[in-house]
Amino acid sequence: MSNSISKGKVVGFSYHLTNSQGATLDKSDEPLLYLHGSGNIIPGLENELEGLVSGDSKKVVVSPENGYGTYDEKLVFQVPKSELPADAELEVGMEFQTDSADGPMVLYLHEVRETDVILNGNHPLAGETLHFDVTIQSIREATKEELKHGHVHGPGGHHHH
Ligand SMILES: [Zn+2]
Repeated sequence: MSNSISKGKVVGFSYHLTNSQGATLDKSDEPLLYLHGSGNIIPGLENELEGLVSGDSKKVVVSPENGYGTYDEKLVFQVPKSELPADAELEVGMEFQTDSADGPMVLYLHEVRETDVILNGNHPLAGETLHFDVTIQSIREATKEELKHGHVHGPGGHHHH
């Protein structure tokens, strides 16, 4: 039986992510596990890993459209501090959950001003072309439970959430 990446496999991979200028955006300390075919990771990366086997390395370039979206100026809001939870300790980069017409939405605190804050609904990596350097570390069959939940339950498939 071939053990290449396909729908229903649990894949572990390490990665180094840079932007178009070559600056590091993120890198894995230990392999990241995901359930292939379930949209656990951005589609532009998931599609490119299909068919790889353990030990394979691949460079994958993901456009903003297939990554974290294009940057949308309309998702930047100026909000009075009084509208934020009173107990919130305001720190740039912190996240707020809010409801939008499209369901729950995450806003990042972009800037703190005297009476207002700037909230940004764009993902911090929105608008970036993502350059992944990926190495496949492990591939296994997902457990029935993982398939049912649509996500991974740790290296051995154990339930711990
Ligand atoms: Zn679960």
